[in-house]
Amino acid sequence: MESIQAVKGMNDILPGQVEWWQKVETTAREVLENFGYREIRTPVLEKLELFSRGIGESTDIVEKEMYAFEDRRGEWLALRPEATASVVRAYIQHNLQADFTMQKLYALGPMFRRERPQKGRYRQFHQIDVEAFGVDDPMLDAEMMYMLRVFLERIGLSGVVLHINSLGCPQCRQEHKVRLQGYLETHQETLCPDCRKRRHTNPLRTFDCKVERCQKVLEKAPHLLGSICEPCGTHFERVKDHMEQLRTPYLINPRMVRGLDYYTRTAFEVITDQLGAQNAVGGGGRYNGLAQDLGGPDIPGIGFAIGMERLILLLQQQQEEARRMPKIFLAAMGERARTHAFLLTQELRAAGLETEMDYEGKSLKSQMRRADKYGVSHVLILGEEEMDKGVAKLRNMAGKSQQEIPLEDLPAAMKNL
Ligand code: ATP
Ligand code: MG
Repeated sequence: MESIQAVKGMNDILPGQVEWWQKVETTAREVLENFGYREIRTPVLEKLELFSRGIGESTDIVEKEMYAFEDRRGEWLALRPEATASVVRAYIQHNLQADFTMQKLYALGPMFRRERPQKGRYRQFHQIDVEAFGVDDPMLDAEMMYMLRVFLERIGLSGVVLHINSLGCPQCRQEHKVRLQGYLETHQETLCPDCRKRRHTNPLRTFDCKVERCQKVLEKAPHLLGSICEPCGTHFERVKDHMEQLRTPYLINPRMVRGLDYYTRTAFEVITDQLGAQNAVGGGGRYNGLAQDLGGPDIPGIGFAIGMERLILLLQQQQEEARRMPKIFLAAMGERARTHAFLLTQELRAAGLETEMDYEGKSLKSQMRRADKYGVSHVLILGEEEMDKGVAKLRNMAGKSQQEIPLEDLPAAMKNL
């Protein structure tokens, strides 16, 4: 009989992989809770309307990526493609604004989008989702991006750039829309079929198109940042001031628009050049009108989501480089040498070197096999003869070269590897 495989684009997370997930989740919880965020868990299944109203009818997510179906009583449901709409729904439904003026919430879990699976792009993927309600002050925008930076630093991710932009408000967006439509009309023939359609339904979305010839056209298109209204402009200036105050580097990217319609004012993305086309590790922004659009009170909000698969892929790539750091195995024969090796192992570990030894009194041959299995870069060999001479033999596993090092010089010599 043929064995049953998982659904395409949906992955198992096996032991050996899951440790990465645990590390990311633990670090996320620690950092978020230090900044005052509390966890919320919402269902993975929601009414379809929540997403079509929240995310926007003419976005890719709602138009073609949702897992939606009619259940047995004729109600349309969908697997959540993102978490913000669900968290806003829960916030409204449970009247959370009554507790505090400000609510800071986070959610961890799977999201579902029917996209073409490839590296860093799956049909079930996971997000760390962060939302704050009730404050429009630019301080919160800057604090959120600072927190994102603290989290990424604490987890040890390097080589990412924070892009920021302002998407204005419905008023300035309306004026810009007319100008952008005019511009796109003059370049009609060059645009892809999707963008030709977007020109009418949602012209701002064209900035998000991944087709190269569209990108070329959009290089010269009027961008929103150039025409935001005065209050939106002041808000953006203050966000930038606070970012400088917090010494958090950023890049202004007037072409970044985000893939969902609900954003207003501040938008941001964390971009990498180490994952091919899947270059966004996370992103977010303000969504001041969303609560009202979903039938709730007029309460401002801001949030972001990090894609956990992409974050972990990057960490693993960077860690693989880190694995070329020295990793040491102590092979010792005879009681005197073993006792000394035990002390030396602890000293090297305490000095910050990943070190392992044999605790079972195995033969040299079997200890060397073990060292190979651990994938160490160096083995220190200690036997009776070496103990008498007061040295250890250092074998470089890659070059297979060997040298003798006086015992008292060892920790320092190993640090210089
Ligand atoms: P992209 O432009 O790469 O499609 P997006 O703008 O659609 O990303 P968001 O909706 O902003 O993504 O989601 C936030 C983060 O979730 C992304 O930055 C990414 O890391 C991750 N993400 C989004 N879609 C997927 C997916 N299909 N598979 C894996 N991760 C994803
Ligand atoms: Mg997408």
